[in-house]
Amino acid sequence: MDIKNRIEEIKAKLNQYNYEYYVLDNPSVSDSDYDHLMNELIQLENEHPQYKTLDSPTQRVGGEVSSKFEKVEHERPMLSLGNVFNEKELRNFDERIKKSVKDFTYTAELKIDGLSVSIIYENGYYQRAATRGNSLIGEDITENVKTIKSVPLRIDFLDKLEVRGEIFLSKDKFNKLNQERLENGEELFKNPRNAAAGTIRQLDPKIVHKRALDAFIYFGFHNDFSNHYQTLLKLKDLGFKINDRTKFCNTIDDVIAYVNDIEKIKHDLPYEIDGIVIKVNELEHYDSIGYTSKFPKWAVAFKFPTVEKETVLNRIDFQV
Ligand code: NAD
Repeated sequence: MDIKNRIEEIKAKLNQYNYEYYVLDNPSVSDSDYDHLMNELIQLENEHPQYKTLDSPTQRVGGEVSSKFEKVEHERPMLSLGNVFNEKELRNFDERIKKSVKDFTYTAELKIDGLSVSIIYENGYYQRAATRGNSLIGEDITENVKTIKSVPLRIDFLDKLEVRGEIFLSKDKFNKLNQERLENGEELFKNPRNAAAGTIRQLDPKIVHKRALDAFIYFGFHNDFSNHYQTLLKLKDLGFKINDRTKFCNTIDDVIAYVNDIEKIKHDLPYEIDGIVIKVNELEHYDSIGYTSKFPKWAVAFKFPTVEKETVLNRIDFQV
């Protein structure tokens, strides 16, 4: 098959997989199969830019905006993350940053496998929650997110504040839900992410309440915030649920040690993760490091390989 046809073939497949994943909440292939295909497409398009089209799945953030909910325009785009799959690619990410800026540190966080949410607070009150959607326009899920008990409805912060985080279903809650569905003869959810995404799109908040979703917050936006790690500490003080394995890292070696530690214990966590997110802390560097149309260049997701061994390591505490 020639290159052009291979590109068209992958594009068609990825578009179909995106539809199944984001619209139907019912994927037919594994995330790692999807990621490999996406990587092949990125590589082919880089080698043959004449075949790169504006409608390529490499050019956009995956979600679709459903018509079930009101549409919400995000104040700042909700981007995706670039992926790396091994230590070498992670070191390349670090090298690229070093080419643009000096004096920076990282935060390494678990990449919870759920769906992202933007939540706006005004005058200290919970105002609105929205899905990522197509990154610019999401769906209004204010009522459903209100049922998540770890999301505060009132905070001691009077200015406008946007936080972002990941809505997820714990492994326990997921198993219980599927057990009930089995007993009722209903179709089972494939995994906790898929169950969380299906639940947040329920039109009846009572059903959402019963399913007991949870949310970790991993971003906060306010003019006073100048350092990502400090922002997380501040959000924690305000009562948001910040993952306690979040780790401040001085260098990429610290990040790699963290990735290796987490990889060994990931199956013992009470929720599913599909990788580690690494972010530069110093916000003043973000514009110099830059963005692509799909993701910031100052952050990256390290995706775990699909087959690994399981071992238990010591807990890494959120260093307050
Ligand atoms: P992504 O999953 O690679 O990463 C971006 C997302 O990570 C963010 O939007 C956020 O929701 C989440 N996240 C979790 N923890 C975070 C943290 N601490 N900080 C920041 N973000 C955090 O990208 P995506 O665009 O959400 O989804 C693409 C991925 O979805 C693909 O790489 C693939 O694995 C999967 N996918 C699978 C299929 C399939 O058919 N199996 C189809 C489409 C997409």
